[in-house]
Amino acid sequence: MKQHSTIDKISIPEVASDVANGVLDTMEDAVTHARRLSVTAQYQETGMLPERKTIVVLGSGWGSHAFIKVIDVRKYNCIVVSPINHFCFTPMLPSAASGNVEYRSMTETVRRSNPLVEYVEGSANDIDPVAKTVTVALTPPEKYQRRNEEAFENDQELQTISYDQLVVACGVQVNDKIVPGASKFCYRLKVVEDAVRLRRALSSRFERAARSPKNSSERKRLLTFVVAGGGPTGVELAGEFSDFIKDIGRNFPGINLDDEARVILVHSGSQLLQQFDMPQREEALRALQAQGVEVRLNTRVGEVFEEHLVFQQNEKKEDIPYGIAVWCAGTAPQPFMETLLDRLPQSARAGRLVAVDDWLRVRLNDSSIELGSIMALGDCSRVINDDEVFLPQTAQVASQQGAYAARFLNRAYDATLTPPVLNQNAYSSKPLEKAWLNLLRQASNAPKFNFLNLGILAYVGGGEALAEVKFGDLPLGAYAGSAAYLLWKSVYLTKQVATRNRVLVTFDWLKCALFGRDITRL
Ligand SMILES: Cc1cc2nc3c(=O)[nH]c(=O)nc-3n(C[C@H](O)[C@H](O)[C@H](O)COP(=O)(O)OP(=O)(O)OC[C@H]3O[C@@H](n4cnc5c(N)ncnc54)[C@H](O)[C@@H]3O)c2cc1C
Repeated sequence: MKQHSTIDKISIPEVASDVANGVLDTMEDAVTHARRLSVTAQYQETGMLPERKTIVVLGSGWGSHAFIKVIDVRKYNCIVVSPINHFCFTPMLPSAASGNVEYRSMTETVRRSNPLVEYVEGSANDIDPVAKTVTVALTPPEKYQRRNEEAFENDQELQTISYDQLVVACGVQVNDKIVPGASKFCYRLKVVEDAVRLRRALSSRFERAARSPKNSSERKRLLTFVVAGGGPTGVELAGEFSDFIKDIGRNFPGINLDDEARVILVHSGSQLLQQFDMPQREEALRALQAQGVEVRLNTRVGEVFEEHLVFQQNEKKEDIPYGIAVWCAGTAPQPFMETLLDRLPQSARAGRLVAVDDWLRVRLNDSSIELGSIMALGDCSRVINDDEVFLPQTAQVASQQGAYAARFLNRAYDATLTPPVLNQNAYSSKPLEKAWLNLLRQASNAPKFNFLNLGILAYVGGGEALAEVKFGDLPLGAYAGSAAYLLWKSVYLTKQVATRNRVLVTFDWLKCALFGRDITRL
């Protein structure tokens, strides 16, 4: 199995073709967007839209967001189903959890992303792929959310939605069930609510520590922050915790931060950030240690209790009292995926993920289910093809797949064929579009999904970051330190999904630089 970052050979024509395709895709999306504006005007005037095929999209994360930005709403009635009514810029969750940016600055609601898309607030809990329906458990009204789960389950409202096309982009969940006590006592960092909880907990631990006797074991416990998992999320969070402690320490002159506060990053592997090349992994370790983060490599969390957890290194066990522990080690499929896979033939299974082909169609070998009627993308899926290229579970992959799937559907390929072929009849009265697709894009047969790796970034605290910049297989440089942090900031700012977010994030950074992090506990 090849990792996608493996550089076999760098082909200049391939790079040029990637650039050209990127530009042409952007032009195609811009035309779709411009047409959407005219449909919006028509809708506002008449309150009606023409009869169209229905696409149901499950999820409102990276894959879904890219999809609904590109889908042609003149051709499709698009319904997004998700328990969360917004997209979240996940790479900035560690910053949000530690008060460097505000949550609302890095989110965009589904309805704002594309006002002509319908949104249903709920979770898909069943599917009939033959009848083409999805059953959705609607999100309970707030009165239930405040009461117990049981009351809600007896009164759960279900809605069945018919589709012509289903797009599954449900992502994954945090895998904290593998270690006893982790799911009960550890914080997570996957969605905005997790960041809200974590930020609240941080302020709370400092307040409680301030009430505890100086140098007491209780104060030290409260100010011990453990992060489990040495991937990008864990490393960034450890770096942000270290910054947070230094920053808000000014507000707690009675606490001796050097002696009484600790950030521990525990990782079962021998190196941090396996996604990066070797020198960068070592740089991450150096930078974190320079910030005062204790990095425990080759160490597992054996069990988590309410106020202490157990580190295990071979046979050696160590009790670590903690104030906050965050689980950033591994992911597992969403509960709905098991139901989905049960309803599909065995060919659709890639372990506990959905197997898709080169065109992101779920692999179906059962003639009762229409080939191409279900597409899957992002973290919940895995491309299975002859190349055996393993795509990472990242926002980059999910968003490129989301945009690809929307373009695939916009162009009206006959997805029941392999390879999918352009339905030329659909273009009989559109010579320009026909020429664009057949001649310029050479897309009468649907092109396969091609991931364009643009590199990887990670913040390590203290105003330092790591960056590996690539264009496909072409390495464009590896950077570390404050220059890389500048790059990190510029990339995350430009990659925000809307101008509104760019402006808000800029103001948040400015506020934080001028006045420090806000520890108001709301
Ligand atoms: C803290 C953090 C930092 C990260 N940093 C980076 C980074 O720097 N770079 C990078 O490339 N990647 C990063 N990632 C990974 C990236 O966020 C994921 O790879 C990406 O979100 C995957 O997109 P997706 O659309 O597949 O799933 P998600 O974005 O997770 O979206 C899944 C959606 O499905 C919804 N859903 C779940 N169950 C159901 C259901 N039953 N019915 C309907 N909807 C459902 C969820 O509510 C959610 O809206 C980070 C992730 C985290 C958590």
